Amino acid sequence: MKKIPTNDGKVRVHSRIETKDGLTNIPQPPSRKPATCKRCRTIMYPGPTGAPENHKKGYCSDGVKQMLAHSKQNQDPPKPNQSVSLAAPVWPQPLGIFTNGTQFHPMVFLDKVRDMYAKVVIERASGELLLEHEAFAHLLARCTVVLENQSVLFKIFDLECSASTPEGLIVTHESDKYLRVNCLQEPPGS
Ligand SMILES: [Zn+2]
Repeated sequence: MKKIPTNDGKVRVHSRIETKDGLTNIPQPPSRKPATCKRCRTIMYPGPTGAPENHKKGYCSDGVKQMLAHSKQNQDPPKPNQSVSLAAPVWPQPLGIFTNGTQFHPMVFLDKVRDMYAKVVIERASGELLLEHEAFAHLLARCTVVLENQSVLFKIFDLECSASTPEGLIVTHESDKYLRVNCLQEPPGS
């Protein structure tokens, strides 16, 4: 074992070991933790480059972008006592609402609202709320505003909306884009 002086004057033991046949064993660096996605917490690259099981570049398996761009549109709508923040929808969102990290599909979203609302109420009562339903309920709670005229609006992210979205469903409120969620609107007089 060789001792080599270092710049600070101290002597450190060199870690290379000379073997009898002249080969040098270079110790492997300590194994690094595999990179995991901050949003869905899965291992980013379990397979070789380009393998289908690898995490997609920039978005998770539910099609949601890992990190939303900092824009006013992507901020949580400030409600009383709520600080404005910027956070991507919690993982995992139901499939088909978000795709490729760049698209939002309002009609699929509205279908899910109708489909899931009753289920969430039942599941919550039984204590067996599916993770996906919980994430969706969280998204709804965070991004929905109810106006004085009782209309319910969901603040859509700074994403491309599918071309099939009927025009009247997207409205602008305080210069941000929202989707009308008429099925969550309380009937008048209730
Ligand atoms: Zn992810």
